[in-house]
Amino acid sequence: MHDLSLTSLSEGLRQKTFSSVELTQHFLKRIKTHDTLYNSFITVSEDTALTAAKAADVRLAAGNAPALCGVPIAHKDIFCTQGIRTSCASKMLDNFISPYDATVVSNMAKHGMVSLGKTNMDEFAMGSSNETSYYGAVKNPWNTECIPGGSSGGSAAAVAAHLCPAATASDTGGSIRQPAALCGLTGLKPTYGRISRFGMIAFASSMDQAGTMTHSAEEAALLLQTMAGHDPKDSTSSPHSVPDYSQSLSNDINGLTIGLPTEFFSADLDPNIRALTDAAINELTQQGVNVVEISLPNIDLSVPTYYVLAPAEASTNLSRFDGVRYGHRCNNPIDLNDLYKRTRNEGFGEEVKRRILIGTYVLSAGYYDAYYQQALKVRQLIKQDFTEAFNNVDVILCPSTPSTAYPIGSRNDDPVQMYLEDLYTIGVNLAGLPGMSIPIGQSDGLPVGMQLIGNYFQEERLLNMAHRYQTVTEWHLQSPSNLSEGS
Ligand code: GLN
Repeated sequence: MHDLSLTSLSEGLRQKTFSSVELTQHFLKRIKTHDTLYNSFITVSEDTALTAAKAADVRLAAGNAPALCGVPIAHKDIFCTQGIRTSCASKMLDNFISPYDATVVSNMAKHGMVSLGKTNMDEFAMGSSNETSYYGAVKNPWNTECIPGGSSGGSAAAVAAHLCPAATASDTGGSIRQPAALCGLTGLKPTYGRISRFGMIAFASSMDQAGTMTHSAEEAALLLQTMAGHDPKDSTSSPHSVPDYSQSLSNDINGLTIGLPTEFFSADLDPNIRALTDAAINELTQQGVNVVEISLPNIDLSVPTYYVLAPAEASTNLSRFDGVRYGHRCNNPIDLNDLYKRTRNEGFGEEVKRRILIGTYVLSAGYYDAYYQQALKVRQLIKQDFTEAFNNVDVILCPSTPSTAYPIGSRNDDPVQMYLEDLYTIGVNLAGLPGMSIPIGQSDGLPVGMQLIGNYFQEERLLNMAHRYQTVTEWHLQSPSNLSEGS
């Protein structure tokens, strides 16, 4: 059952090949047996999952149940879940039980989806390797010595190891697309505002966006359908109408134009990644897609720009964790200052503290104009570059990551090296565009991904192109060879 796609699971439930309770029990058992190896879950919510599965079976029996009713899902531990711990992988929230559900969580529950639990991640979604979690590093199912990518590394590892059929994730600078690429999955970060951020713990609010971690584009379309839409509880969610994402999946892509940014295909590009990307482009051209070179002249500034803006927003967002309102509180504070200082010192990990320091610095009087304001201006330039490019092309194509998964612990001494991991993904968040990573092959046994970037609200086009690619290739169907068979 754990190898079936969301579509097959939905059919199996309708045809009563298995019930939602059986399906849920199967995945819970898999998590119990295998996750000691991957550490992809922080919390498994067995009881509530079985209760939800029973309710889904009743709905299925009554007929008219939504497409994904009864199908299990895992949520990144950044989404608030009522009554179930939401830790954001931080000691600060180790004991936090949210009094409400994030809109993403409640939307999926309304569709009858069954939440198995909460997946591991980098602390407060800050990281690219899933090594900053308070609950320990996540292992890549393709090679457990290696990182799965981050920050949605738990969601990626859990889906890649078939511990859940699909998972939710979030992407502020690449946190869906990068782990998807490193774990051989399809990861979709929609347009900023496409999915409500209500109840998704804030990191950098002007870039945070929820999205999907699945094996295929077809599944991403089904999942996005349950998540997308305006939410009165999030003023930045878009009122833009939500199309039927599955309807256009098989549309002809003949005549569409893809742009290859020269800046992303430079001599530094890893030769294996380059060769696999060229082969994938070739598959698309065989379906009638035109390829042109484009330029994104300011894209080289995207990493430094992000590392001014994201920490600035994070330092503001994280000021709420003060030991008074939520989460961790130090023992026996002598006064209010001591309470703040010790609580935050004990509750936050090293990377989060680094971001708070950078953010506070760039927002401080005297440096605000030099750093924060300047970064906002560069952000506009990067956005304009994309807008101009989309005057001539339908989709922009580039690698998802500069390398494949690397050994756990091998890059911990150099945070800047780690930040450069997001070279290809961060510009998309600065501009607020939709981006997607799809598997295109393997290099030395480790998965490689390719990124498709669309114009605003053109998720349909990305899903369509990815699906057409996946109808003629099988990379998205491959699983790590060391996955244990059977149960
Ligand atoms: N790796 C980036 C960072 O550390 C992006 C993280 C994300 O997308 N949440 O900030």
